Amino acid sequence: MLKGKVALITGSTSGIGLATAHVLAEQGIDLILHGLLDEAAGEKLAQDFAAQYEIKVLFDNADLRDPSAIHTFIEKSVAVMGSVDILINNAGIQHTECAATFPLNKWNDIIAINLSASFHTIQKSLPSMQKNGWGRIINIASVHGLVGSVNKSAYCSAKHGIVGLTKVVALECAEQGITCNAICPGWVDTPLIKQQITDISEKNDLSFEQAQYNLVTAKQPLPEMMKPEQIGEFILFLCSDQARAITGSALPMDGAWTAQ
Ligand code: NAD
Repeated sequence: MLKGKVALITGSTSGIGLATAHVLAEQGIDLILHGLLDEAAGEKLAQDFAAQYEIKVLFDNADLRDPSAIHTFIEKSVAVMGSVDILINNAGIQHTECAATFPLNKWNDIIAINLSASFHTIQKSLPSMQKNGWGRIINIASVHGLVGSVNKSAYCSAKHGIVGLTKVVALECAEQGITCNAICPGWVDTPLIKQQITDISEKNDLSFEQAQYNLVTAKQPLPEMMKPEQIGEFILFLCSDQARAITGSALPMDGAWTAQ
């Protein structure tokens, strides 16, 4: 059913986005890959996907801090691929520091990349979904879109914001064949969290593995990190026809973190 649809995944050069790209490509879904790779590396990634899965693939490295770059990126994507049927707002960054000293430039970057960029991609992608009467928008929020944690003021603000954006877009598109949902993962094994583990390891003189275990189990009852592919498989389900009534939801995938 999804073969030939076009999925745009922001931040798909690494972690959850890259794993999701493989899951969707296996279904014959054409891809717009995106992330902070140089042109040559990005083109190579796109060619490798196209050859491995026999799908159409486009790559773009628009900096999501720049709204005009995002507009150009989405316009080019629609022009080249014909439409954006599935939009996965996944790119994100992190900086941990208490609010009292949180650097303004880090605040601005996190709000721009983790929240505002999704508003821009949604606004620019909606016309092609509305034209086709079908669309799936999946925003990768976080457990931090539902609860707070110390030292994550910007990240929690952005992720709570994306949960709100998700609800409004779902309401506005409910009669248009377009669903919009947020996934709220707990710990996922990707480069994004390596710095937090390294900091704990150095501060407490622990091995990387012990620091990782301590970080994960501090708040998440399931004592292991999720694999990025698990998020990709959940996204694939949300794209299916069976999931058409799931919209406007913030869906935890958090090892019972928010059950407490
Ligand atoms: P990652 O660091 O592996 O990948 C981040 C991606 O975002 C990369 O492709 C990178 O190029 C892109 N990116 C970063 N800054 C950008 C910019 N300025 N412009 C364009 N692209 C940019 O991270 P990940 O862990 O795979 O995270 C993906 C999403 O999942 C993020 O939104 C993150 O907040 C969320 N998330 C991650 C976890 C986790 O434990 N890893 C948990 C919950 C939510």
